[in-house]
Amino acid sequence: MAFAVDKRDIEFCLFEYLKMEDLFKTEKYADFDREAIEMVLDLTIKLATDKIAPLNIVMDREGIGFDKGKVTTPEGYKEAYQALCDAGLVAAAHNPEYGGMGLPHLMATAIGEIMSSASVAFAMNPGLGATAGEVIEVYGTEEMKKLYLEKLFTGEWGGTMCLTESGAGSAVGDLKTKAKKEGDHWLIEGEKIFISAGDHDLTDNIVHLVLARTEGAPKGIKGISLFAVPKVLVNDDGSLADANNVICGNIEHKMGIKGSPTCTMVFGADGPSHGWLIGEESKGIKYMFLMMNEARIGVGLQGQSTAAASYQEALQYAAERIQGVDIAKMKDVDAPRLPIIEHPDVRRMLLTMKAFTEGMRALLYSTAYFSDLMEVHEDENERKNYNSMMELMTPICKSYCSDYGFRMTELGIQILGGYGYTIEYPQEQYCRDAKIASIYEGTNGIQALDLIGRKMTAKGGLFFMTYLTRVNDFINSAKEHARLGEFAGKLEKARDSLVQVAMSVQQAGMSGDIYTPVLNATPFMDLFGTIVMAYHLLEMAVVADEKLEAIYAKAGAEDKEAQTKIIEENPEAKYYDGKLHSARFFIDAYLPHTMALAKTITSGNKSPLEIVF
Ligand SMILES: Cc1cc2nc3c(=O)[nH]c(=O)nc-3n(C[C@H](O)[C@H](O)[C@H](O)COP(=O)(O)OP(=O)(O)OC[C@H]3O[C@@H](n4cnc5c(N)ncnc54)[C@H](O)[C@@H]3O)c2cc1C
Repeated sequence: MAFAVDKRDIEFCLFEYLKMEDLFKTEKYADFDREAIEMVLDLTIKLATDKIAPLNIVMDREGIGFDKGKVTTPEGYKEAYQALCDAGLVAAAHNPEYGGMGLPHLMATAIGEIMSSASVAFAMNPGLGATAGEVIEVYGTEEMKKLYLEKLFTGEWGGTMCLTESGAGSAVGDLKTKAKKEGDHWLIEGEKIFISAGDHDLTDNIVHLVLARTEGAPKGIKGISLFAVPKVLVNDDGSLADANNVICGNIEHKMGIKGSPTCTMVFGADGPSHGWLIGEESKGIKYMFLMMNEARIGVGLQGQSTAAASYQEALQYAAERIQGVDIAKMKDVDAPRLPIIEHPDVRRMLLTMKAFTEGMRALLYSTAYFSDLMEVHEDENERKNYNSMMELMTPICKSYCSDYGFRMTELGIQILGGYGYTIEYPQEQYCRDAKIASIYEGTNGIQALDLIGRKMTAKGGLFFMTYLTRVNDFINSAKEHARLGEFAGKLEKARDSLVQVAMSVQQAGMSGDIYTPVLNATPFMDLFGTIVMAYHLLEMAVVADEKLEAIYAKAGAEDKEAQTKIIEENPEAKYYDGKLHSARFFIDAYLPHTMALAKTITSGNKSPLEIVF
């Protein structure tokens, strides 16, 4: 099967749904136009198709090498990594002053989707370096910026985020890595586990962002500081000096993303590991959150993009695989054999994959667009609104898209039948690769707690109210829609149940029953995420409907027969009609699940707490 990207739907999201061109009217993005964006899109797709996708399977089969503390990547990895650096795609949305491309976050998200679709494991490496650089840009000293930034944004050096320790995973506040002051810098001592791209042979240096506790700092989150700890020390002129005693103790052997080195990193065991404080002491978690918010949207994107690759390949397979006959001709032994794409159950699975993939794409791209608008919108209130919506949507992007991304790859296997289960086809790898996204960057259980406990209640419920206003405005206008009004009515009912459930959970929490919100955090995430998806799919359908009607009008196609003919013959009409089906199908087949979730959440059942295991 050939790797494929749904360029048409990506373009729809960028230009027709979210109207990225409006950003080019702002000072920050005045240098860009649609032509330039199309060029970057084509370049990214070419790189992903020619260099990265073919490597994905090699990385999976060969994995990462580890011998005497040295981590090695499979053949072809370095070349592909260099091609990515040469194309300038490492830091797509980052500051051009330091070697970034300065594109909108929205466009960087599209680039991220294409790269991760080709290989999640590969795309992690450059992503980590760029985000580490961003933390340094915002909170680091001028000296740090001078020494590290350009190297990180151009991919010449790699970067990591070192939070996890054996006793501090979800509870990062329990970490034990120490930092002791020595002159103008610090000595770092401790062991971090599961560090992505902790060591490799792609770059001469790696800048580790390490969370550690300074001497005498309080216990818990509040006592944690953030340090830049380079693998190799850097002279004042930027040249490399001695190794910094940052040792890779081991690498993990994993279920998926086998092309991404997951390392145990030991600091200060074989001699001093020198680190430099980023920002102020004890504010490390706040700084790391800058990186984590972006990374959480990025991890949601890993789920979505793997599902997108899985869908594209399942679609190709289903059109080619001949098996069985039309159900209406079951008894006719001479009935023509059909490609499986003709069987209703396979069509149901394919449309499920299509609808989820497109809905998640719209959710992720919209959230990235909120990040752009919260920076460049001319109205201060609007900037605040976009910030509120970005905050609220971040855990949903991470959790919903990773969970459903994984589930969609499982459908990808199912569509291929027995072949889907074999290593002859990429579906089983997609499924294995996608699973990690629900675990790292804060497990989905922790994301659900973040949504229900922090984001829903933040600023007296402001984030939620801001988002609801947007959804309400849309529902109110879409209810009048001649062809889609019925679906807006269904969304309205689901929205009402979301509000009722949110209120009931909040009341339980306020009356001292803290366990009801905590126990129901995950079903609440599912309920909210499903409504967000329905909203995006329907909003896109309204845009698609208008375009389709224009095509019909131009062709003078007034009756159903003439319109069906146009859909069959005109690729644009087929595309817009497909968008309408995605929305209608999701709203009829999946939105009703929210009613069941609402019942679950408000049932008052506390068996998980009461059972004696
Ligand atoms: C391939 C891979 C790459 C990684 N890359 C990095 C990296 O680059 N940098 C880094 O710092 N870390 C990294 N990690 C670590 C990752 O972020 C952690 O695995 C994750 O945060 C969960 O921590 P844990 O594994 O200790 O699980 P635990 O914290 O032990 O969680 C186990 C289960 O308990 C649940 N749980 C735990 N505490 C609570 C709670 N308070 N309330 C409700 N449920 C709870 C969790 O949701 C989960 O289901 C990586 C991990 C892997 C596997």
